[in-house]
Amino acid sequence: MRHSPAELKRLDRDHYLHPFTDFKALGEEGSRIITHAEGVYIFDADGKRILDGMAGLWCVNIGYGREELVEAATHQLRELPFYNSFFKTTHAPVVKLAEKLCQLAPGNMNRVFFTGSGSEANDTVLRMVRRYWALKGKPEKKWIIGRENGYHGSTVAGMSLGGMALMHEQGGPCVPGITHVRQPYWFGEGQHTSPEEFGRECAQAIEDRILELGEDNVAAFIAEPVQGAGGAIIPPDSYWPAVKEVLARYDILLIADEVICGFGRLGEWFGSTYYGLTPDLMPIAKGLSSGYLPIGGVLVGDLVAETLIEEGGEFFHGFTYSGHPTCAAVALRNLELLEEEGVVDNVRDNLAPYLAKRWAELAEHPIVGEARSVGLMGALELVADKTTNARFDKSLSAGNVCRDICFDSGLVMRSVGDIMVLSPPLVITREQIDELVDLARRALDETAARLAHAQQK
Ligand code: PMP
Repeated sequence: MRHSPAELKRLDRDHYLHPFTDFKALGEEGSRIITHAEGVYIFDADGKRILDGMAGLWCVNIGYGREELVEAATHQLRELPFYNSFFKTTHAPVVKLAEKLCQLAPGNMNRVFFTGSGSEANDTVLRMVRRYWALKGKPEKKWIIGRENGYHGSTVAGMSLGGMALMHEQGGPCVPGITHVRQPYWFGEGQHTSPEEFGRECAQAIEDRILELGEDNVAAFIAEPVQGAGGAIIPPDSYWPAVKEVLARYDILLIADEVICGFGRLGEWFGSTYYGLTPDLMPIAKGLSSGYLPIGGVLVGDLVAETLIEEGGEFFHGFTYSGHPTCAAVALRNLELLEEEGVVDNVRDNLAPYLAKRWAELAEHPIVGEARSVGLMGALELVADKTTNARFDKSLSAGNVCRDICFDSGLVMRSVGDIMVLSPPLVITREQIDELVDLARRALDETAARLAHAQQK
């Protein structure tokens, strides 16, 4: 039976609890039904074509409608839809995917643990880090330092590692032994000084926290190379080199959460490569399968892996869907396509510089305080006053107003407070970037007009 859009909306309201949603407000407003997608466009039930400037949820790197991935899934579903790898069994898709990932990852990474999502990857990381230090005879090295406004998932460990205050309020008490330091968000928190100096201040904050906790008690530092869900926060160039120095000084593991930055987003296979990092652990998900099927994992550096293997005995951790054959087959084909078609190099050499140029033009707009981008990730800071960078009154919800206008006019951009965030599929063309920037500019015009009108009331 085919449901009409109206019927679907009613059933949606009556039965479906959406993620990260005010259930009641959505029930009153109603959902938009997305019916199909092709390339960089999604289509809704009214037949409207919308440029997906968020690649689904930072994940559809290869774009929509790739038959090769449908074939990979169908083939695997026929052959072996599921089998676990708990009890001395394995299968070709997961082995081939593991090998491929290790080939793409930084040189010190030669093992993968698979999960069903990015959140589970971060739960895995927490357990591996603590187990590692216990095996090294330093069980007191328990503290993990994360960052305010960092995002590492929505499970209890993911939420605890992340630094989203509203999540902590609702989901606490958090996992003990996790603490957060300031984020390298120059526009929001660093304008008292230069970006370079601010980057060093933020690295210093990590060192200060290490000394406060006692250097012998700190296990690891976790961070996204570029914060995604926090608002596409690109650290100043001084940040990562200074952080690397601090961590090396105190023998602290680096966990680079590559769930968004991995698989080409910054024009390299991993955000860590872009910033010259050699992490000990890298949680991955999203772009790994371009979102076609759910799969995540942790790339494990030799230091931790060798210890777990040689000294650890059984590691009491794993998920039913760890190394799911069908998800693995699709992920492998996705990585092959990204590689064969030179998608990542094209981001680095062609699309990222082009987006940077076109995106920067939006900084001229009267309600934009900053337009920043790295690779194919961008952000616009909405401000009420360009000379002082003062924000709009919170009651105006400027970001949400702009997001809704964008959607209605045929562009998906996400709002994080008053930051508009962009992360399109990596297969976007220059012409489509032009279209995207035009749509964004028009949406900004309308947002400015609507907010001016609201302020007059
Ligand atoms: N880490 C980062 C950096 C993320 O952006 C996300 C998801 N947005 C996660 C972890 C959690 O991944 P998932 O939603 O697949 O659990």
